[in-house]
Amino acid sequence: MPFTSHSANRPLDRRSFLYGVAAFSGAAAVGALGVPASATPARRAPANDPTVYDAIVVGGGISGLAAAKALVEAGRTVRVLEARSRAGGRIHNHPTARLGLTTDAGAEFIGPTQDRIDALAHEYGVEQLPTYNTGLSVFWNGGQRSLFPSDPGLPLDLGTTAALPVIAEIEAVCADFPVGEPWRHPRAAEWDAITWREWVEQRTDVANARMVLDLAASAALSVKGDEFSALYMLNYFAASTNESTPGPSYFSRLLSTSGGAQERVCNGGAALVPLRMAAALGDVMVYDAPVRSIDQSGEVPVVTSDAGTFRGRRVVVAMSPAISHRIDYTPELPERAALCAGYTMGRVGKFAAVYERPWWRDKGLSGQTIGNGTPSDVTFENYAEGNHILMGFISAHEMERLDDAPEQQVVDECIESFVGYFGDEARGYIDHSLFRWDHEEWSWGGPVATTAPGVLTAHGPALRTPAGAIHWAGTETSDYWTGYMDGGVRSGHRAADEILAAL
Ligand SMILES: Cc1cc2nc3c(=O)[nH]c(=O)nc-3n(C[C@H](O)[C@H](O)[C@H](O)COP(=O)(O)OP(=O)(O)OC[C@H]3O[C@@H](n4cnc5c(N)ncnc54)[C@H](O)[C@@H]3O)c2cc1C
Repeated sequence: MPFTSHSANRPLDRRSFLYGVAAFSGAAAVGALGVPASATPARRAPANDPTVYDAIVVGGGISGLAAAKALVEAGRTVRVLEARSRAGGRIHNHPTARLGLTTDAGAEFIGPTQDRIDALAHEYGVEQLPTYNTGLSVFWNGGQRSLFPSDPGLPLDLGTTAALPVIAEIEAVCADFPVGEPWRHPRAAEWDAITWREWVEQRTDVANARMVLDLAASAALSVKGDEFSALYMLNYFAASTNESTPGPSYFSRLLSTSGGAQERVCNGGAALVPLRMAAALGDVMVYDAPVRSIDQSGEVPVVTSDAGTFRGRRVVVAMSPAISHRIDYTPELPERAALCAGYTMGRVGKFAAVYERPWWRDKGLSGQTIGNGTPSDVTFENYAEGNHILMGFISAHEMERLDDAPEQQVVDECIESFVGYFGDEARGYIDHSLFRWDHEEWSWGGPVATTAPGVLTAHGPALRTPAGAIHWAGTETSDYWTGYMDGGVRSGHRAADEILAAL
């Protein structure tokens, strides 16, 4: 069945895509998280549910959950149809292979101005811990290792200062940017005609500066700078805040640890937030319910899933545009389809090695790395629940190379990159976890979908404009913090507001 998910020209014939329930069972993981098994019942609705709900939410990721929660709190009747056997989507606690320790396979960090996800973490009693950010971090450039202070955390003292004027220009652009509507920027056509790498190359010919600015893309988006629109990246920087906190510091707010998007982790894993939200929603949640079609040709929209047919006065499609077009829409939505065809998920995986003790701290190292090492190019320490974990991202081309490799090969390669960054002690790991997102049937990669040049200016408004009774959520549709959990929550709140205004 295999589908090609990561070529910019990947086939979009949804009929060639094998739908089915993801083999991955979240139920076991949920038990391991201390959330009662009853909290996420694999509820199956009657094959034909005659009830007309106020809203059917398609997708039980953080955006769909946020929409459902807001609608339920407003007294509306709702069903959330989730393809997987678990809630949370790209936020997922994955147990280590041997000891079953919690690791964040997907979203992990929360930072300043990410108020919506922060508020939910507080509401559901999920403790946040500061990311370990003491000592020196590793900058890896073509096999050369150097160290820089983990705070402020940008390796700009290593011959990369030529990037500073470009970063200053990014700050100036962000200060006056139509966040969430990049197609409205006066220079939108110019910047959407080129890739991020081309935009950078127009501004500096210093190799290290180019590399650092390319890393900004691969670290945040898990794509290479030549794969997506410069306009998309500039919007992404500008979105790294909230309505009430203007710049400067967009660049560092996106990429830093202290004071930035990597500032805090959740004790017990970020997935505790969506799992507890779903538990509180109870019967509203319907699992194992991949939605195949949404038909608006009748009086009331009809949503057909593997768990039955549901009718709702309004529908929220709460997922990335890169996968939302796999649903059949009647009538067809050509403008939205054209937009979605231009979105591609990043390729990403996360590897975590567990140690008896945090030996890197003894060497004055923070456990953080940024650079062009392989296969793991960005690393962090995670000490939640008293564990001693070095986590490494596997990004873009490297993830693509290893998508189908035997797990032990990926583990061995990641450990060797840790040896290069931190020392031979890295080989003494006692446990590990590896999670590859690219073949996840209901994600198709991560952390976020980006657009090819030309897409936003041609079809951008279709990102959020409702199509009849269908409203669009998903972090990619958010204005602020698009690509992040916070953006997911924001998008769900917006979709709920639209529906409450319409009903
Ligand atoms: C490796 C990785 C690291 C990340 N790190 C961070 C981080 O540190 N901090 C941060 O804030 N964010 C991070 N993110 C991004 C964050 O996870 C996402 O922004 C956020 O979770 C997106 O939520 P969503 O609801 O928009 O989409 P999703 O989480 O993708 O939810 C969509 C849901 O829809 C379901 N679905 C799909 N198709 C169908 C269908 N046809 N029918 C029914 N259901 C369907 C899916 O199963 C899924 O549950 C990371 C993501 C990844 C993958």
